[in-house]
Order: sequence, then structure tokens, then C-alpha cells
Amino acid sequence: MNNSVEMKDISKSFGSNLVLRGVNLSVPAGKVTALLGANGAGKSTLIKILSGLYPDHGGSVLVNGSVATLDSPGTAKSQGIQTVHQRVDEAVVPGLSVAENLLFEKIATREKGTSGSLAKLLPEARKVAAALSLDWSDKFLRKDVYELDIADQQLLTLARAVVDKPSLLVLDEPTSALSAAEVDNLMAVVRSLRDQGVGILYVSHRLSEVDALADHLVVLRDGVIRGEQDAPFAWNEALTQMLGDDASESLSSAKEQRGSEDILTISGLKLFPRSAPFDLAIRSGEVTGVIGLLGSGKSETAEAIFGAGKSKPENMTLHNSEFKPTHPAKAIKRGVYLVPEDRAKLSMFADWSIQRTVTLPFLDQITRGFTLDNSREKKMGSDVIAELGVVAEGPAQPVDSLSGGNQQKVVVGRWLQGDPQVLVLDEPFRGVDIGARRTISAKARGLASQGRGVVVFTSEVDELLEVADRVIVMVDGEPRMDTYLSETNREEIVNTMSEVM
Ligand code: ADP
Ligand code: MG
Repeated sequence: MNNSVEMKDISKSFGSNLVLRGVNLSVPAGKVTALLGANGAGKSTLIKILSGLYPDHGGSVLVNGSVATLDSPGTAKSQGIQTVHQRVDEAVVPGLSVAENLLFEKIATREKGTSGSLAKLLPEARKVAAALSLDWSDKFLRKDVYELDIADQQLLTLARAVVDKPSLLVLDEPTSALSAAEVDNLMAVVRSLRDQGVGILYVSHRLSEVDALADHLVVLRDGVIRGEQDAPFAWNEALTQMLGDDASESLSSAKEQRGSEDILTISGLKLFPRSAPFDLAIRSGEVTGVIGLLGSGKSETAEAIFGAGKSKPENMTLHNSEFKPTHPAKAIKRGVYLVPEDRAKLSMFADWSIQRTVTLPFLDQITRGFTLDNSREKKMGSDVIAELGVVAEGPAQPVDSLSGGNQQKVVVGRWLQGDPQVLVLDEPFRGVDIGARRTISAKARGLASQGRGVVVFTSEVDELLEVADRVIVMVDGEPRMDTYLSETNREEIVNTMSEVM
């Protein structure tokens, strides 16, 4: 087969943990092959083997029919395999222009001093952009990459990966940070590459995207391929293969719970110069979902609850007494907990173990004098692993070696070890697979049914429909809709979200 990549009997273990067990997968040229699997299934490990990061694997990779040695990222690229990893902000080179980033590999491999001026690069950069139907002006090409928003950075890393037309392009969750219009743009680029004969391996948790884009679907679970399909896809079958047997049960929608008592009240919150101040009461016993587009005031509302944002409400109460945190740590003392949007930056330290990550906010409770109670720490770590079904070797495993969804389970599970009065989750499902999403939703709903307040901020309607009882739609810095889920529907929510005055 020409211009294709085949993986034969691939295996890989970390210590005693066998995470890929005889994977056979071929990615033909001119097709989009989607790779689906819950967090921890082994997708990233497989991708890292293809990008030359794990030379010590079992089995072989054939490129255009002959065995390829993939022992470094450089050799993978020279074999025509290009990978766009998930964190784009780490992939662009700050301080360089868009054009320089786009042609970075070429500049870097040229002899020193021959890179030439930016003006000389522009014609080539323009050509690359035009070949991808990207409408990039010279002004745009001259910008420092740091001035770009995440969507343009994402398109840039994609464009850079295809400068030297690869035979295989691997995309790991390329749309997790993009809006719907930006996703359309990226998908158009992927389609055009496919039509030029590039083989594409596409990892995504968004089923609607895979449905629209992929020609072939491969499901990985626990390091084994569980099923393959050609489009059009039978999604029930794929989900069962992906999640195992308990999938059908968790697919059923949860029963609406309605609370009656105000647990947290906010009054006189004015978010933007042009928006009016508003009041909001969070009730215990139900999950409140707050949804809105970027710029709607959704994140600002979350920040205000923790005394962290620019906008301060006139007054807040918790259990009918004044609540005025000047700092998130003060909110924690009162049992108001936040799972922040940027988990990597704000709630984890890269080389910490699972158990230390879990106990971080509670260190004072497990410390006697200056001595940390190690066995209590270990127990709290193990409890979170058990309660949220974290796929891990044990509580001592570094948290950053877990997949994204399992990291998020740890960060959410940590707060359930405390005594939350109000739990605020900001975009808790970003980059998280369906299995982890269901677990986290179920935990949030369970907490509400114990009479606590739970607020979930999200920008995805499907996530809202899954987790929330009550729905608040933010538009232009104010709540535009506030009702129970059973009294509205998807269409109405989407219409309200897109109402801009
Ligand atoms: P996915 O990308 O499908 O979510 P991964 O390939 O990231 O899954 O992980 C598969 C399994 O391998 C998980 O159990 C994970 O904990 C483990 N794992 C991944 N990377 C490492 C590593 N560097 N060290 C130890 N275990 C790892
Ligand atoms: Mg992964």
C-alpha cells in the first residue's frame, strides 16, 4: 500500500503496567481515521510511539510498506509522520512571528545566519497558507505568535505540521479549545489535506466532529482495539466498545432534582461597564449549570464568587451570613470550593503524587506539629482513586503521568474529601473523555442530592444537559434565562446563548 502507515502488534509497558497490548492499526492515505477511547485507553501512548518518543516498544511500524525505525521525533518527521500535540501554546515559539513559526523547521535546519529577514520569508509563508485556503494577510504573518488567540495558534501548528507535506498527520484533540466556527475552519483544512492524499489519524472526544469528518473509526480500550467501523457510524456500538458494559446504564439521563433553600446569594454584581448589575441565588439540593459563549460573563461570575475577579458584588451570603472572601483560600475555609478551568496551572504541581495533590488543601488537617501523617495522606489518595475510578498504579504515581480525564478526576475527587458547602466547577469537562465526564457528573449530582450547592460553568450544551438541573444562560454580562432543564430545551438554550443585543 502506498503512502500509508501500518502499526503491527504494537505493545508498550510502563514498569509492570502493560498499556498497549498487540495493537494493529493501519492509517491509509487520503482518509481520516478517528481513534476513540476513554481516558487511559492508551491513545497518547500510541501517538507517542508514532512520533518517535517511545522507541522501546514491541511490534513494528511500516511506512509505505517498509519497516521504519522511529527512535526520535526527528526520525519520525523524516519518515513523513507529523504530530500536532494537544497543548498548542507550548508548541509555538514565542518572540517569533507567525511566518517564522510557520517555516520554523526550515529556518532551524538552514545554516546559521541564512534565515534571512522576515520580508524574505513572507512569499513562502503566503504560499503555505494559501495552499491550506487560510486567508492570512502579511500583517497577520508578521504578528508575534503571542498576539494570536488560541484558535489561530491551533491553525498555525497545524499549518506548520504540513509545510513539508507529511504522509501521516496525527492530531491529538485539535479542537478542544475552539469555538464552533473555528472548528469548522480547522475541519476544512483537515479535509483539504485528506483530499491531497495525506493520511490523517484524528483523536477527539467530540463525537459530532468525528461523525462529520472521519472515514473510519477505531475504538481502543485498555490497550486493545475493541472495534472498527467505516462511516456512517453506529454510535451506540462504538460507545459500548469504548466504555465497556456499564455504558448503557450511564447513558440514561438523570432525574431532575430541585432544591428550595438558598445556600449562596450574590447581589449587585455588575460585570461589564455596559451591563446592568444582577442578583443570583444558588440553591442547595440541585446542580446549577451556567452556560454562555466567550465574553458572556460566565468566567467573571465564577471569579466573583471567590473574590478573585475584577467585579465585586455588593453583597454575598453563605447560609444567610455574610460571605466576603478576599482570596480563594478564605472561600475554602467556609467550604466554598473551586475546581478551576486551568487545572494544569492552578490545581496541580507537575511532579507531585496523586496523594499529595489530593491532600494539598487539607494539609493542616493531616499535619501534627510539623509532621505530615503519611498514612492518612496515602489513604486519602487511595480513596479518591477508588471513589472516582482513577486509572492509576497507586496513590504515589505522579499526577502528571495520568491522562487528562484521570487528572481531572483527582482534582474533583480531592474536594469531595473535604466538606463542601458549595462546589463550583469551571469547565470541568474540557479535554475529558465521556467516561470521566459521566463519573464527574454523577459525583456532582450526588453532592447536590446530599443537600449541598453545586454550580457548573460550561460552554457546551451537551455537558449542560447532562449535569444540570437548573440552567442559567449568560449573555452580555447578565443572566438572560434562568429555569429548570425540564422546562426548556436544547434549541431554546442555544438560541438564547446566541442572542446578542
Ligand atoms: P489516553 O491518551 O488514551 O488517555 P495514555 O496513553 O495517556 O491514555 O495512558 C495509558 C495508560 O498508560 C494510563 O494508565 C496511564 O496512566 C499510563 N501512562 C501513560 N504515560 C505514562 C508514563 N509516562 N509513565 C507511567 N504510566 C504512564
Ligand atoms: Mg491522551
